[in-house]
Amino acid sequence: MRNNKPFSLAAMFLALLFGSASLASAQNRQVLAKAESITGDRFTYSVRTPNGANVYAVNRPSAGMLAAIDRGLTELFAVARKNRYSKNLNFADYSIFIAKADRQKDGQGADSPDIAVGAAQYAGSDYDQGGYIYAAGMVVAFNPLTFVIADHTKNFQRVSDVVRFEGEHLILFHNDRRRYSRTIDHSQGGGHPILK
Ligand SMILES: [Zn+2]
Repeated sequence: MRNNKPFSLAAMFLALLFGSASLASAQNRQVLAKAESITGDRFTYSVRTPNGANVYAVNRPSAGMLAAIDRGLTELFAVARKNRYSKNLNFADYSIFIAKADRQKDGQGADSPDIAVGAAQYAGSDYDQGGYIYAAGMVVAFNPLTFVIADHTKNFQRVSDVVRFEGEHLILFHNDRRRYSRTIDHSQGGGHPILK
């Protein structure tokens, strides 16, 4: 998963990212470092979706990916309002990292671009692949609201779903801490959607 880019290139993307106001704070540098540590990727591109969500990506994000992220957040905000949650319902509140997919297909051969992440609380469960698991997405931080997903070249509906699902954890963290705690750990069963 780790790649070895020349140092000069690394310095260049650091300048790119830290040059933007949204990643200027120490807090945001921590979030970037965590996203890199989870994925083993380097996030060279910094863009916004048409609706204003912050996106950091390994490769230049396609229009299809950016539109899918906006659709997923739109669905998330709608279902959050239905549940009477009011905090963090703005596109600009969200930072989404688009990582390289570590696999393209799942164990059954179906298209499933996913990232490989450390097994942690999933160790020994059905998810465990031996120290790591494949995940469609993963929460990186709560302030700013940040998660990582895998890059897709098709099946953008899946991207919208993953955005909505990872966003559910963030919405619950900020709006309903008890429900957040009950639904955070999928190794104990339960999945998405949480909000209906
Ligand atoms: Zn989840």
